[in-house]
Amino acid sequence: MSLPQPRRETRLDRYHDLYAERTKGLKASAVRSLFAVANRPEVVSLAGGMPNIASLPLDPLADMIAEMVRQHGPQVLQYSGAQGEERLREQICQVMALEQIDGNPDDVVLSCGSQQALDLITRTFIEPGDVILAEGPSYVGALNTFQAYQADVVHVAIDEYGLIPDALRQAALSCRAAGRRVKFCYTIPNFSNPTGATQSVSRRHELLAVAKEVDLLFIEDNPYGLLSLDHDPLPALRSFESERVIYLGSFSKTFSPGLRVGWALAPLAVKEKLILAQEAATLCPPVFSQFVVSEYLANWDWQGQIKTFRQLYRARRQALLAGLAEHMPPGLTWTKPGGGFFVWLTLPEGLDSQAMLPQALTHRVAFVPGTGFYADGLGARNMRLSFCFPSPEDILEGTRRLGEVITEALDLAQTFGLTHALPKESL
Ligand code: PMP
Repeated sequence: MSLPQPRRETRLDRYHDLYAERTKGLKASAVRSLFAVANRPEVVSLAGGMPNIASLPLDPLADMIAEMVRQHGPQVLQYSGAQGEERLREQICQVMALEQIDGNPDDVVLSCGSQQALDLITRTFIEPGDVILAEGPSYVGALNTFQAYQADVVHVAIDEYGLIPDALRQAALSCRAAGRRVKFCYTIPNFSNPTGATQSVSRRHELLAVAKEVDLLFIEDNPYGLLSLDHDPLPALRSFESERVIYLGSFSKTFSPGLRVGWALAPLAVKEKLILAQEAATLCPPVFSQFVVSEYLANWDWQGQIKTFRQLYRARRQALLAGLAEHMPPGLTWTKPGGGFFVWLTLPEGLDSQAMLPQALTHRVAFVPGTGFYADGLGARNMRLSFCFPSPEDILEGTRRLGEVITEALDLAQTFGLTHALPKESL
């Protein structure tokens, strides 16, 4: 009989005993290595969420930045305050006015993308084991941050209008009845990542009423609100309620993600904490990037540029929806977003999107499997398809390839009796 061999230590184990407990749950994405393949030119990637910045006027931008350094170098290349530049905070309030938010520049805290604002908020509020309510499915980057601070994410059911108010009430009450501390509810009201769902205005009012009733704070994450493709942007949750909502905005989707400029608009008490957290994290958010955004907003037809982005994304959404209608086998459903970047597809029972990914890459098409968007292991029958980056022609071709992959998987599953009819409640 052979004794079990001790596991051989690898270089990755070297500092294992020194790591903080909270890092133990962090794991590399199961599909990360496959995404290296997804980025090859022959693959149509419906996976990434990269904004299509090709329409930005690069030469004039380069001139503007050069002039900015020449004129204001000593200021834009220097440290500055942790809250962010006052001029930009004022401009941000004008941007938020498009969603009917009456914000005060003094309540705005700049961050390195809204992702960092999520991190600052989570480190400010969360003790290990605290509950965060979040729509299921939800943005994977937020779930990663919540996990990094050992929060327990409890998903709340959604329909085509996003969070279901009764489900939110029930989730908050039942967590509290079980003695759990519910810290906040994280929501993406416009063109959610990953489903594309948008809360109607009446739904927003209902959700705020529930928040009042059960004493809940909302984190309103809104990077896509101005990328509304069918109508004017809807009023933000924050436009109806200033104390119960921390609003997060970003220039990543309306200007440039590489500059990493986002912000939080927070109630006074929270704002003070976020400034301290920002100081501890970065001393100050990138001054140079803030000045670039500020100059852009001051000197550019930025609303015209957003219109250009909308045209570009409208054509791509049309291509994705038309391609799905033409090439998907029967038995699947998918969302029809009014903006943003994403469509959420539901496969018949018995199919597993993650298991399909290698085959999809062989067929030169990529998507993101659904399980990453849930903290509780659901999502195997879902995939997120993005329409932001490839050309409309490539998107159409991508859906044709994806149709072949799903049809093959379906044929195989039917041969082995694994598929069932799609349940009614699938989004
Ligand atoms: N929230 C959501 C819902 C997102 O989709 C993203 C980016 N994919 C972010 C936040 C982070 O964006 P950024 O940090 O670039 O502002």
